[in-house]
Amino acid sequence: MSSTEASTAATFADLGLSDSLLKTLTEIGYESPSPIQAACIPVLLDGRDIIGMAQTGTGKTAAFALPLMEQIDVKVAKPQALILTPTRELAIQVAEALQSYAHGMPGFHVLPIYGGQSYTIQLKQLARGAHVIVGTPGRVMDHLERKTLNLDHLKTLVLDEADEMLRMGFIDDVEWILERTPEQHQTALFSATMPEQIRRVAQKYLVEPREIKIKSATATVAAIRQVYWQVSGMHKLDALTRILEVEEDFDAAIIFVRTKTATVELADKLSARGYAAAALNGDLNQQMRERVIEQLKSGALDIVIATDVAARGIDVPRVSHVVNYDIPYDTEAYVHRIGRTGRAGRAGNAILFVAPREIRMLRTIERATRQPISPLTLPSRADVTNKRVADFKGKVAEVLNAEGLDFFANIVSQIAEEQNVGAEEVAAALAMMAQEGKPLQIAGEDPRPAPAAAFDSRRPASFGERDERKPRFNERSGDKPSFESRGERPRREDRPTRSAPTGDMVRYRIDVGRDHGVQVKDIVGAIANEAGIESRFIGRIGLYDESSTIELPAGMPAEAANALKRTRVRGVPINLRPDEGRPDYAGGERKFDGERKFKKKPA
Ligand code: AMP
Repeated sequence: MSSTEASTAATFADLGLSDSLLKTLTEIGYESPSPIQAACIPVLLDGRDIIGMAQTGTGKTAAFALPLMEQIDVKVAKPQALILTPTRELAIQVAEALQSYAHGMPGFHVLPIYGGQSYTIQLKQLARGAHVIVGTPGRVMDHLERKTLNLDHLKTLVLDEADEMLRMGFIDDVEWILERTPEQHQTALFSATMPEQIRRVAQKYLVEPREIKIKSATATVAAIRQVYWQVSGMHKLDALTRILEVEEDFDAAIIFVRTKTATVELADKLSARGYAAAALNGDLNQQMRERVIEQLKSGALDIVIATDVAARGIDVPRVSHVVNYDIPYDTEAYVHRIGRTGRAGRAGNAILFVAPREIRMLRTIERATRQPISPLTLPSRADVTNKRVADFKGKVAEVLNAEGLDFFANIVSQIAEEQNVGAEEVAAALAMMAQEGKPLQIAGEDPRPAPAAAFDSRRPASFGERDERKPRFNERSGDKPSFESRGERPRREDRPTRSAPTGDMVRYRIDVGRDHGVQVKDIVGAIANEAGIESRFIGRIGLYDESSTIELPAGMPAEAANALKRTRVRGVPINLRPDEGRPDYAGGERKFDGERKFKKKPA
């Protein structure tokens, strides 16, 4: 068995992938291969067996999926690849990844099969013909026994997270399946660790495998404060803005994401929230890239959202924070990323977002850098409000010391007299106006703390953890409308309890109200059914006489929006559209500040 350490290669094109796949990768915004991809793809394309020592977050899925897809003959509607995964969540995730890589392969069909799903549905789907099956060992075994799954055309077999399958007691099932696969096929085994039993399976069933490891060279990092937040209960974007807002000594930040698409999306979203932010990715030419860096240096920009490649070598002393919005592929990338802060003898801060499935990568980073990364408690609404109030007071104090206040003091006196109120009330009204687009008190709820069990790297992730309490339509460019459901509900214990949705909401108006005999539950029911959006993602509803307002998550796909325009409630077309004006409270529920906070002074 020969062993190779994965290191960064130049481009996907260098790896020998077809033009069609290269085009798709560009479309989904993958800029360059991760180290494990660079090492595995050419070997797999060469037809060799491999043992890939890699964990979630390294890009291992694409490392086996892309070469496997090159071998699929779409005209043959038979399983040509089988991927075994320890959990159904991973099966679904891997199937989604393959589907996204199949843009240029019309007719390509990947089918996840796992325990707990109805046999009737699975049998129908299997009979229709799938090119790739992604399944949990038990259910794949069942189908092989029933002869409802036939592996005669198998070209590739992947064992994903083999050590997890061992830990969960599936190794006998895996071997049972391996015994029944045709002689001639390629096998790829991926595992974060290499326990003895996995090594034994590899020796028995793989043919002269090439062993590929992710480098995790130890490296010392400068005195940078390192913290992590385990993604849970709140969308990453909301968490990011909360954190940035209360971070002490914030000056400028570089935020790392994985794809070019994500750099642009995040830059747009942060700009919409009032940050001076821009994307830095491989699509920018040298001149544009330099311009962005210049702007970051001069203070014209405070935040740059970058991919690893684009941010290589940036040296901007005012970068006080590096945020790993998407976890890096390996420790080397981590060390490089955080080295963008703490420059020129200044203090640096590195914040890492870690999904529950990526906790193992966090531990690897800690080991490699020989430094603990401490958990970060997400600032509460009160923390953010306090910070905003403190900043506001600071600004007022500055203006109080300025020249030329008399003119304005005179105006305040006039208003007080005309309105028959005290100067304090006038000041309050002015303070309210001064909030502009950024209210001092933030809306939304504080997330529940991550369950302690989620910190256990050995626990398989659940739906509740993955969905971050937001519909998933924006996760990957080219996704189908997200509002669609998976055709199945998460297990009861995985469902987050119902509470107001977090994340960005947009208020819409609809043409039905009390006069039509409509109740809130009718609206929730219709929207939930027509747009396929779960009711827990539906925000506040204001019921008025002739119309109503409803808050829905931002970023609704056009398809869902169109469906909602045509939806009827009690037979009346709702004509859903963004609500631009102020709410007409006539006869309706008054949501915003029902009372005047200050009593009129007696005349
Ligand atoms: P994995 O380690 O396979 O679970 O992949 C983790 C994440 O990285 C997934 O969201 C992938 O879509 C993303 N990813 C994988 N390879 C690349 C790449 N070369 N460039 C950008 N993102 C990638």
